[in-house]
Amino acid sequence: MALDICKQIYKKIKKYNTIVVARHVGPDPDAIASQIAFRDTIKLNFPNKKVVAIGSYVSKFKYFGLIDKPNYNEIMEALLVILDVPTLDRVDGIEGLQYNEIIKIDHHPCDTKVASLEFVDDTASSACQLVAEFNFRTGLKMNQNIASNLFLGIVSDSDRFLLSYTTAKTFHIVSKLIDKYHLNFEPLYNNLYERPINEIRFHGYLAEHLNLTENGLAYVKITPEILKEYDVDNGTPSNMINDFNYIKEVLSWIFVTYDEKNAIYKVNIRSRGPIINEIAARYNGGGHKFASGARCKTEEEIDFLLKDLDKACKDYKESQ
Ligand code: AMP
Repeated sequence: MALDICKQIYKKIKKYNTIVVARHVGPDPDAIASQIAFRDTIKLNFPNKKVVAIGSYVSKFKYFGLIDKPNYNEIMEALLVILDVPTLDRVDGIEGLQYNEIIKIDHHPCDTKVASLEFVDDTASSACQLVAEFNFRTGLKMNQNIASNLFLGIVSDSDRFLLSYTTAKTFHIVSKLIDKYHLNFEPLYNNLYERPINEIRFHGYLAEHLNLTENGLAYVKITPEILKEYDVDNGTPSNMINDFNYIKEVLSWIFVTYDEKNAIYKVNIRSRGPIINEIAARYNGGGHKFASGARCKTEEEIDFLLKDLDKACKDYKESQ
């Protein structure tokens, strides 16, 4: 079945001369890496096609490669490929873009169909795993740079192969990438894991201020003043939420960061027990069963969300 869908997507790619590759807003390493690796794979195999990666540029991820800044008036009759994003409302940079058809490659659970062809597997560790699988199955050639990006996306989204979506298939794909493209881990890991000292200190602040309920919910509320004090941006907590896994007393944990510019609370939620994406969906959010995000407008909404998560932890404990 996966082979069929990959072949069908391959045919569409062959058909279109202009291909636009997009991913979700507020990108993480898997989103950026899958987008750039996919764009570069198409460029490598079809040098005469116009292929662009769109969306906001995030300077801390520049080691993956550059995002394009195409003139949207010059894009016509395009195939839009969306990666690592389940629905169109979360795709970065498609306002004003003209396209004929959409293809989706994603690992988020989603009940609605948004594209004419969808290679979706919500048991896959990452969008990068699916792009690598797509490339191997269709025989598209890659190079070391593309393989390195895919490797880093898989490593990052699986939290270095710790999360439950890491399967034998993940290791099989990773070993093929390493073997075929002679990947050298150390410089790659430097890109992904090197941190400035102020971020380490901010990490210490989060650990110090983690509130814990008796049901096993941990949370921190992060104000703009704290972000300023530690000289970090409001995307930094998202990069740190996975570091708080495996705390003995904690079943679910949540960072609430106030985004002053957009006057909204950005929420990162993780769990190693209760399923959280259904709760996140009630608060303008969604995501995976054990890794979700949400957006709240008021403190009151945050309090309701915390209550719902605390109850989910309690119910989970009682069911064990
Ligand atoms: P994050 O905590 O931002 O790393 O997000 C965890 C997961 O939830 C990712 O798969 C995101 O794509 C997804 N996610 C985050 N925020 C939202 C949202 N507002 N709506 C739907 N999905 C989200």
